[in-house]
Amino acid sequence: TQRIIDALDSYAHPVTVPVTLDHHRYDVVIGAGLIERAGAWLAPILPQKRAVVITDETVAALHLPRFMASLEETGIDARAFVVPVGEGSKSLSRYARLVDDILAHGMERKTTVIGLGGGVVGDLSGFVASSLLRGVPFVQIPTTLLSQVDSSVGGKTGLNASSGKNLVGAFYQPRIVLADGDALATLPRRQRVAGYAEIVKAGLIADPELFSWCEANGARVLDGDPAALTEAVRRACAFKARVVMEDERETAARDGRALLNLGHSFAHALEAHFNYDGRLLHGEAVSIGLGLAASLSVALGHARQELGDRIDRHLRMLGMPAGLDWFDAPLSARELIGYMARDKKMQDGRLSFVLLRDIGAAFTSNDVDMDRVTEVLRRAGC
Ligand code: NAD
Ligand code: MG
Repeated sequence: TQRIIDALDSYAHPVTVPVTLDHHRYDVVIGAGLIERAGAWLAPILPQKRAVVITDETVAALHLPRFMASLEETGIDARAFVVPVGEGSKSLSRYARLVDDILAHGMERKTTVIGLGGGVVGDLSGFVASSLLRGVPFVQIPTTLLSQVDSSVGGKTGLNASSGKNLVGAFYQPRIVLADGDALATLPRRQRVAGYAEIVKAGLIADPELFSWCEANGARVLDGDPAALTEAVRRACAFKARVVMEDERETAARDGRALLNLGHSFAHALEAHFNYDGRLLHGEAVSIGLGLAASLSVALGHARQELGDRIDRHLRMLGMPAGLDWFDAPLSARELIGYMARDKKMQDGRLSFVLLRDIGAAFTSNDVDMDRVTEVLRRAGC
């Protein structure tokens, strides 16, 4: 019964996380049934009752018909453009084809671009919205846990270039974000695991209460319990909104948006090793990266051993990727460090790491001795 009451409550009373920036404010609405009632949410917000919907093949099959029906009910004239699933759709060539198709269909300055899908669709559609006719209204409807807690908040949009991920893009804020808990019901567990890693990360950076909440409720989140998912999304969005409001364009000298990269230097190196080919999801790499960042913090004397143990225990208890023993074969520390050195977070020739003093107390340092990083990687199984 409690589950049914929670579900009804989330349907009737979505929660809202406001994002207030220098020149723009919008809401992230979190609850059940938002896709089904999207027309009612969007009709008052769209400057014109016309929209272009960008989604991927998987999401189109699962959620597009309900979504289009709801737009139609409120008189919003919408046309859907479906791209292939996967990171490959964040390419310059896919972008070129998509904007040509959209322009051929007809597009006015007041026509809204709606991204319905995970982070790939969000980043692609956001960049399309930012650049078509020099910028048209944009709405995000994130359908993965990762996109609900991370990529849909903060206004980063982008594409991959041959020399690296997310190297082409813009800061472009949506009019509204609708994070529908019902969408997550169709999400494979592996994708929930990947999104959950970014939630744990949020707690570790600056929200000890969120981390404790994760210790108590993480298993329910991974099992897809709707009430636990809604609460996790609310807490993680509130955290990210706070960070973004303080440092909209990642210009803070230190400890602003850069803190969101906790675990990510390691994660990006691991992803590069697997050539971004789907064997290792970003969130899985982040999960391992969090443990390594904690070990590095301990090795450098910033945090006590218990901190590393507590994080490792939490991840392993849930069966999350933790440590390099996750992989079948040992990786090379030298190779991973090589990838880190090529990461775009490199500044003036120094690698910047996000480290922990405690749960909820992260800081950045560009003064890390790479020999210690090698040591940590070796101890973790390299
Ligand atoms: P994704 O968009 O590829 O989605 C993962 C998979 O889930 C895909 O196969 C997709 O088709 C499927 N899917 C989506 N919604 C579903 C649903 N409701 N039910 C079943 N399947 C569903 O990947 P992602 O993990 O959501 O996002 C990763 C992308 O986000 C990367 O490109 C990354 O660079 C980007 N990202 C951007 C930011 C930002 O700030 N802009 C932050 C983090 C990540
Ligand atoms: Mg990330």
